[in-house]
Amino acid sequence: MNSQQDLSVREALHLVLARVDVLPSESVPLLDALGRILAAPVIAADDLPPFANSAMDGYAVRAGDVAGAASASSVTLRVLGDIAAGTDPTLELTRGTAARIMTGAPLPAGANAVVPVEDTDEQWRGRERPLPAVLNVFRAVEAGDYVRYPGEDVRAGEEVLAAGKLIRPQEIGVLASLGISLIPVVRRPRVGILATGDELVDVSMPLTKGKIRNSNSYTQAAQVLALGGVPVPLGVAGDTEAAVRAKLDEAVNLGVDLLVSSAGVSVGAYDVVKSVLDEAGGVSFWRVRMRPGKPLAFGGYRSIPYLGLPGNPVSALVSFETFARPAILRMAGHTGVERPSVRVILLEDIRSDGRESYLRAVVTRDERGYVARTTGGQGSHMMTSLVKANALVVVPEGVKAVKAGTTLTALMIDWPGGVF
Ligand code: AMP
Ligand code: MG
Repeated sequence: MNSQQDLSVREALHLVLARVDVLPSESVPLLDALGRILAAPVIAADDLPPFANSAMDGYAVRAGDVAGAASASSVTLRVLGDIAAGTDPTLELTRGTAARIMTGAPLPAGANAVVPVEDTDEQWRGRERPLPAVLNVFRAVEAGDYVRYPGEDVRAGEEVLAAGKLIRPQEIGVLASLGISLIPVVRRPRVGILATGDELVDVSMPLTKGKIRNSNSYTQAAQVLALGGVPVPLGVAGDTEAAVRAKLDEAVNLGVDLLVSSAGVSVGAYDVVKSVLDEAGGVSFWRVRMRPGKPLAFGGYRSIPYLGLPGNPVSALVSFETFARPAILRMAGHTGVERPSVRVILLEDIRSDGRESYLRAVVTRDERGYVARTTGGQGSHMMTSLVKANALVVVPEGVKAVKAGTTLTALMIDWPGGVF
């Protein structure tokens, strides 16, 4: 059934998010977990550190032996041996003895502290340095000084990472330290990407009169990849119902989690996507009160969530940002699905048309904080305005003019000054 609804962006997004679920989990090799969401808690099987070890290059001692050491009155100890990282020391410290020890090497039996080399008369650290027979210590240490104890970081049996955690490089490091090489994560969303229109040719094809290159499919595939999803390119369907239906059925057979199409959802004579979806049922047509990107189809095609985005490249990108991005992130298990936003001071007067507007803008920082300037021509076919932009400045619904100096919200696409 075709229902035509007039919705705010917030209402439309709410309906989209209500329709998508977190995908099932899979186990992947450690590095493949980067950027993904942990599907089950990780319980440590071992302590971290796994054994007591030295935090410094120095000498393992019994703190009590050097309690009286000071720069003016050193304490002399007998050196029993050398402990390198990666070895298992068999020596045992008795009263009045020390052992040379390297950072990360296991503390020998009998020792309870380490004196850094800097506080001894053996400051030269070369590998070939012969082990001294005796050592003068110029500084008192307390039990535990410069010792890293087992379990100080992580205790065996402890939940070290909770389900739902985003895996960043530091989580990869913790997992590696714990010897966990297969990670349960939420499956990557597979997103079918369909372009529709008789005017479209592929990027590798020469342009003939009246044709344009299919850029939306590439933009959208890149957007899916950037979100950690798997794009499933479906190519171009010409403007016939049979062609569109064939592509959508192909996608369902390929097994996709979300279908995204561009164009063919407005009121043009050849907007056949609309009739295919009408006939399939389950998809609603929305007029979202946003600019760019008013017409939008959303629902399910053969029970796969379906987002029919507008054809104009800027509208397609902005509406993908607004609706497909949160849906994909939600399916991938993310809880924060919104772009980071900052308050910006507008550097110019702007006009709007009363719809919630997403203006392509450049946000920079100056002494006032974040400031924004639009990238100029905001026509929904002007792709270079997106290339220049690092943010979308939101003009709220109902506002038709905004004066320079006004503070608005900017959704950050990139951060000023670099990648984050
Ligand atoms: P439509 O929604 O079919 O009326 O398309 C709106 C505009 O977007 C037209 O100018 C189309 O040529 C353009 N367009 C549609 N699909 C694409 C695409 N895949 N890549 C680039 N432009 C497109
Ligand atoms: Mg068209």
